Order: sequence, then C-alpha cells, then structure tokens
Amino acid sequence: MARIVMKFGGTSVADIDRIRNVARHVKREVDNGHEVAVVVSAMSGKTNELVGWTREASPMHDAREYDVVVSSGEQVTSGLLAITLQSMGVNARSWQGWQIPIRTSGAHGAARIEDIDGSDLVRRFGEGQVAVIAGFQGIGPDNRVATLGRGGSDTSAVAIAAGVNADRCDIYTDVDGVYTTDPRVEPKARRLSKIAFEEMLEMASLGAKVLQVRSVELAMVHKVRMFVRSSFEDPDAEGMGDFDNPPGTLICDEDEILEQEVVTGIAYSKDEAQISLRRLSDSPGVSAAIFGPLSDEYINVDMIVQNISEDGTHTDMTFTLPSGDVDKALGVLEKEKQNIGFDVVQSETGLVKVSVIGIGMRSHAGVAATAFKAMAEKGINIKAITTSEIKISILIDSEYAELAVRTLHSVYELD
Ligand code: ADP
Ligand code: ASP
Ligand code: MG
Repeated sequence: MARIVMKFGGTSVADIDRIRNVARHVKREVDNGHEVAVVVSAMSGKTNELVGWTREASPMHDAREYDVVVSSGEQVTSGLLAITLQSMGVNARSWQGWQIPIRTSGAHGAARIEDIDGSDLVRRFGEGQVAVIAGFQGIGPDNRVATLGRGGSDTSAVAIAAGVNADRCDIYTDVDGVYTTDPRVEPKARRLSKIAFEEMLEMASLGAKVLQVRSVELAMVHKVRMFVRSSFEDPDAEGMGDFDNPPGTLICDEDEILEQEVVTGIAYSKDEAQISLRRLSDSPGVSAAIFGPLSDEYINVDMIVQNISEDGTHTDMTFTLPSGDVDKALGVLEKEKQNIGFDVVQSETGLVKVSVIGIGMRSHAGVAATAFKAMAEKGINIKAITTSEIKISILIDSEYAELAVRTLHSVYELD
C-alpha cells in the first residue's frame, strides 16, 4: 500500500464525462489498496473566463476579490469529482484550500504556499476516505482565499504530496509525458522517460507550461517523486496501475539518468517584450535604480543586456519582460526617470523567446554556435541572447517561433 497524490488539469476535468473518466483513474488506485488525495483544476477555459470577468468589471480590481472569483472554478470541479466518486461507491469528500488549511503568503494572485497541515487528510486516509482537493488556492495571512498564479494546481499537488508524505505525485494531463518540445508545435517531438529537476525547472520557466515552475522547485526541495502522465488513456489499460513504473515521465535527480544527452529539450515563450533605455549614465547604482522599482511592482525581468559604454559616460540597457507587464513597467520607469537618468525609453512587443536546454551542455563546447548557425541559415534575426550553464535563450520575432523551435529540435537531433 502506498500514498498517492493524483492531480488532474483543466482538459482532464473539462466536462462530466471527463470527470467520470478521472474518477475511474482514482478508483483504480483505491482498488489497488492505495491511499489517495486528488487535486483538481478548474474545467478548461473556466479560469480564463473568470479572469476576463474581473477585468471587465474593473481593470484595476482588488487582487483579493480577483482571488475570490478565479478560485471558484476549482471549487466546482472538486465537488463534482467527489459526487462522481461517491456514485461509484468510493468514499470521498471535497476540500477547499482553507479547510485543510493550505496557508499561503499574502501576495494575492501569485501567492506562495507556506504551510500545509496534512493531519486531517492523513487521519481520513486511515478511515479509507479519498480527499478531493481544489487546486490553485489556499488561505492567506489575512484569512482570505489566495490563488497561486496560473497553472498553480501543479504546485498545490506537489505541496500536498510533501505535506502528507506521499510516495508519489502523479500529474495527469492531456499529453502522456514531458516531450523534447511542445508536441503541439513539433509533432516529431519525443517523450522523455526521465528528465532531471534542473532541466525541468528551466523548461518550465522558459515556457513549457506542462508544469508550473514552482511545482518543480517544491518537488526538488522536498524530494517528491513526480510523474507526468496522461488522463486520456483508458484508466484500466495494462500497466496504468503499475506502482513502480507508471507510464509517463519521471522528474528526478540528475544521477538517476544514465544516458544524458547534450540537449534535452527546446522551450519557447510567446508574448515577450523588450524595453530599451537609451543614454543611461554609466555609473554605479543605475541598474539598482531601474530594477529595484520594477521588482517592487512584481515585474519579472528576464534577459538583461547592457552595452559597454563607448565614451565612459553613457550606455544603453535592454531587458525583456512579459508583454502584459509593459505598460506597468513603462509607468514605473517614467516615474523613476529623474532618479535613473536616461534620455528615451523604447519598447517592442510581439517577441518570442526560444530556449535550448540540457545538462549535457555543461561539458560540451559549441552548443550555442550550432543554434546561431541554424538561425542564420533560416534567416532568423536574433535580438538578444542569454546563456547559463544548462541553457541558451534567444529572442526573435514571433512570426518565426514555430520555425525556430522545429529547426533547433532538428539540429540537436531531437526528432
Ligand atoms: P493541464 O490543464 O493538465 O494543467 P497544461 O495545458 O497546463 O495542462 O499543460 C499541458 C500542455 O503543455 C500540453 O498540452 C502541451 O501542449 C504543453 N507543453 C508545452 N511544452 C511541453 C513539453 N515539453 N512536453 C509536454 N507538453 C508540453
Ligand atoms: N485553473 C488554474 C489555471 O488555469 C490553475 C491550474 O489549472 O493549474 O491557471
Ligand atoms: Mg497546467
């Protein structure tokens, strides 16, 4: 007997038929004698609709009320799944974040889980009850509902797995694992049987939305055994209930992977923008004066490029950020103009960042050069570049996104 957390995403609970299918996956594990907690997302499209309504009501809405609205999708699916399980003879009840409770930080709309009291859940496992938990939500220090940022149900699932000491956390979604790149963009993408935490962290933070970044971080820190697998397969097909070797992708420590490729995957993120500050003073404290105020407004800046000054007095600075944050960032920079000291600010939206990721890069030369050559051959102009030990990111015009992903996928022999 083991303790398993099973998380089902939006497409997996999109309607009552799909929820019935999810219930069959849950029943399989219960019938195999396991203790089970289930975490559900809202029905696919629901959260977008709810977010849209809050914007329509008022673009400058109170984040606490935003959380009241957008957390409601998960309340619906948790109740529906509990009802469906009960109708199949499975002892189940639903839990909202505040009932467990899942304590979060006070950053409404992007809260972090700080603590989970798993004792009630564990006691009820002992009574043979399945917990069906609304993902994406918890309760803040102000005792109000708080949500975890888009895609946050993955994080709910891993945090609960850590909180109840589960043997495994299965993330069920609409693909049967983590692929070398988004299979919707490159049909030749291959499913990985394992991927290292560090690589998955990079893939997720660079745009592969199959897992929320924070969920991977938590799994790495708390040593949660995490699988990505499909809810769309027949719940009772051969091997689906195999405890040691379930179908899907295992996210694991690097040393569990015997044959490490140089490049593991390609990720992309759309809706990137760049902001350039021209003729900045080239003196200590300028970067702090720019990025401090942006960070105070929770604006996530990514690639930062600063020129070496030609004359020792002035320089240019360019950085990237999500397109949705551009107006806010421009507002902050205008307000800080005196303090920062620059001539003009320019911005461009509609960009995409494509990244090549692989732990094997640490010990191989020439990986970046291969990417640049491939882009040159396709006539794709690179606007900015950043690298780390295990990734290379390039910023390009969004019309070339798919072409760049497929080209890189093929030059690194991932097809
Ligand atoms: P859920 O609603 O189950 O949370 P998401 O839509 O958040 O599902 O994530 C699953 C999607 O992630 C897939 O449909 C796929 O298009 C996308 N995706 C992006 N990159 C990858 C990748 N490298 N491997 C697998 N899926 C990926
Ligand atoms: N329903 C939330 C979202 O769409 C959380 C999730 O699906 O993980 O972002
Ligand atoms: Mg998701």
